[in-house]
Amino acid sequence: MSVFSPMVAAGHEEVCFFHDPGTGLRAIVAVHSTRRGPGIGGVRIRDYGDDGEALTDVLRLSEAMSYKAACAGLPCGGAKAVVMGPFPADRAAGMHALAGCIERLGGRYIATEDMGMNESDIARLNDVTRFAVGRALADGGSGDPSPHTARGVVCGMRSALRSAGMSGDFQGLKVAVQGCGSVGLGVIERLLAGGAEVHASDIDVAAGESARRAGARIVPNDEILAADVDVLAPCGIGAVLNERSIPEIRARVIAGAANNQLAGAADAERLMERDIVYAPDFVINAGGLINVADEIDPAGYDGRRVAGRVANIEITLDRIFAEAGRTGKTSAAIALELAHSLIDS
Ligand code: NAD
Repeated sequence: MSVFSPMVAAGHEEVCFFHDPGTGLRAIVAVHSTRRGPGIGGVRIRDYGDDGEALTDVLRLSEAMSYKAACAGLPCGGAKAVVMGPFPADRAAGMHALAGCIERLGGRYIATEDMGMNESDIARLNDVTRFAVGRALADGGSGDPSPHTARGVVCGMRSALRSAGMSGDFQGLKVAVQGCGSVGLGVIERLLAGGAEVHASDIDVAAGESARRAGARIVPNDEILAADVDVLAPCGIGAVLNERSIPEIRARVIAGAANNQLAGAADAERLMERDIVYAPDFVINAGGLINVADEIDPAGYDGRRVAGRVANIEITLDRIFAEAGRTGKTSAAIALELAHSLIDS
């Protein structure tokens, strides 16, 4: 298994492998870039098939964090940690061991939550290291990131609507939301409050029921991507925009929270060929990162600064769509170019 080739290809600065003999914890931390500030990114705990799979995941995810942080205007770089599941049975001891690894990186990596982690795990990391953020509001942290992500998606959607020649007003707009979880439901509530007609789906009955109670029309999940609407907002899983789904999409705008919505780079081209405006996911869904990253500001967490940066997502997307229109490139390609220029400047 080569480590250097993929690191060099994507421009990673550092990859560290950790093993804690006491608990059996095995973790990989990849720091993609610290040029704008410490590399921030979640800790993902997963049952990886093998080391190679874990390495591929951590390299890909840490690189994406750099782009997300840069486009959000944060003084942070990108990094990520993956922990090979199963996590040590003694959760506290495992978290303390992991925190020791993070501490040894001296602040080049700032840990947050990702799959398999929760707020109390962050608190356990904080027993050992200050280089972990995402504490509960009650503990002086930044609290739940989801409402900030939802607000950013709604701001970004306005920009995408204008780029598609619409007014940016939600009154009477038809939106299909796939995934009614923490972020999806927040998006639905905001759209309904703005006068939109929301169609929603989820594979989880209880999540769909919450959306229905909020005022959304529930549609079968296998019909949501092709719904006859103005906007499609993928807020569940990734890779939903692919060779099969794109020809069926009737929305003129795609603006949602899910990470990695495009199955591959060619799918951005497929959307452009169909004249569908796509808001690049790592730009539009940065609200949660903006919120959690604010904890590391030397002056402390500031909700007003967070709100300003989240609102800026709309302006950043205006810039990306304008540049895409001028150059004939896809919005996804322009977003990536913007991220690189912000990291290199
Ligand atoms: P969540 O787990 O609270 O909700 C996800 C919802 O999607 C669940 O209700 C789930 O049942 C549903 N779902 C899963 N697979 C589905 C499928 N195939 N079809 C339809 N629905 C499906 O997660 P969340 O925090 O709301 O995050 C939603 C998406 O946004 C994820 O892709 C996440 O990575 C991304 N995201 C979240 C945040 C955040 O602040 N929470 C920030 C950036 C990106």
